[in-house]
Amino acid sequence: SLEDDLVIRRQPEIYLRVYGAVLLNAQGQRIGALAVLNDITRLRKLERARTDFVANVSHELKTPITTIKGFIETLLTGALEEKENARRFLEIMAQESERLNSIIDDLLSLSGIEQDSKGFQIMLEEVELRDVLQNTFQVCQSGAKGKNITIQIECDINLKAKVNAPLLGQALVNLVQNAVEYSVKDSRVLISAVQENGQLIISVHDWGSGIARDHLPRLFERFYRVDKARSRELGGTGLGLAIVKHIVQAHGGTVSVDSELQKGSVFKI
Ligand code: ADP
Repeated sequence: SLEDDLVIRRQPEIYLRVYGAVLLNAQGQRIGALAVLNDITRLRKLERARTDFVANVSHELKTPITTIKGFIETLLTGALEEKENARRFLEIMAQESERLNSIIDDLLSLSGIEQDSKGFQIMLEEVELRDVLQNTFQVCQSGAKGKNITIQIECDINLKAKVNAPLLGQALVNLVQNAVEYSVKDSRVLISAVQENGQLIISVHDWGSGIARDHLPRLFERFYRVDKARSRELGGTGLGLAIVKHIVQAHGGTVSVDSELQKGSVFKI
């Protein structure tokens, strides 16, 4: 008997695991062969996604660690005596440690949601949506004030839905914080919730920088960023939208984005 993997090279590629065995009759004579083919394409894709993820995480963690290590060496080889430089280096090190912390917090939060949502175990409770939106507003307001951005809420006072309020709140905070970060000063962000054809639709609308069309399909992937340097500068981890997607999926919903460069974006749950 034999066992092997086959790749059918066409678009998209198909991976097959083949088991083959000779068939014998009662007298031990060969009367044929049996081949069983299992389609393992999905499994292969998951394996690849996992290795890519590990490589991405390592890379994301390595960048701040390299910076911190570099400055420690500089301090140890003399810069410690130059008071002003030493202070500046320590400030950068503090910033980079904060980045490491945010990445790890976001990763833990992602894996937590994944664990909880296996078999749809998240707790759903009927709540008034306005309260969830109001909490989001409170969390994001101080960041928005700094840029003089007004956060508006549009939601019927009677609108109720079965959700996991802390998780949904986290998803909305991620969306609204992005909306604020990628908006110019003195603009506004609108959070609205409506019920349409038995579906609850929550959207976060901004009139900020917008996102070019070719980035949209990959936007919800872990660590995907349109402008890496800008995201870093703003303290982003590239995991915010992946967290949103996981939370929404755990609720059995979907998330989408409409965006136009220089006009703004709408994220819809
Ligand atoms: P980050 O931590 O970088 O904000 P996210 O996963 O939250 O990571 O977002 C991924 C990328 O999507 C961001 O780096 C940014 O380029 C883009 N993005 C997200 N939200 C918006 C928005 N409202 N307007 C413009 N770009 C956005």
